[in-house]
Amino acid sequence: MSDCLFCKIISGEIPSKKIYEDELVYAFYDIDPQAPTHFLVVPKQHIPSAAAITEENGAIVSHIFQVIGKLAREMGFSDGFRVVSNVGEQGGQTVFHLHFHVLAGRDMTWPPG
Ligand code: 5GP
Ligand code: ZN
Repeated sequence: MSDCLFCKIISGEIPSKKIYEDELVYAFYDIDPQAPTHFLVVPKQHIPSAAAITEENGAIVSHIFQVIGKLAREMGFSDGFRVVSNVGEQGGQTVFHLHFHVLAGRDMTWPPG
C-alpha cells in the first residue's frame, strides 16, 4: 500500500534497524522503545490490523509467532517477554498495518496498567 509507513519500511523506502526478514515477514526495532528491547514483527502483506485476520490470510499469524519465538530464543529472553497488537484508534493503534510489538527486559513499562 503506497501511503503506508510499514509498507515503506518493508520496501526499504524508509530506513529501519532490521532484525530478521523472510519471504513473509519483516522484524525491526521500534523507533521509540518502551522497554529495554522493543521490536516489531509485521507481515509483508498489507493487512490493516488484527481485526482484518480471516481464514484466507490468517496463516501469517502462526508464522509470525514462530518467528517471535525463534527471535526470543536467539535474543536470550529467558525471563519472558510480552507480545502486543493494538487494534484500532481506541486500542492505541497508530500505524494501520498489522504489527506485533515484542517487549523484553526488566523495566518494561508499557502498555500502562
Ligand atoms: P501502534 O501504536 O500502532 O501499536 O505501534 C506503532 C509503533 O510504530 C509505535 O511503537 C512507534 O514507535 C513505531 N513507529 C512509528 N514510526 C516508526 C518509524 O518510522 N520507524 C520505526 N522503526 N518505528 C516506528
Ligand atoms: Zn502497509
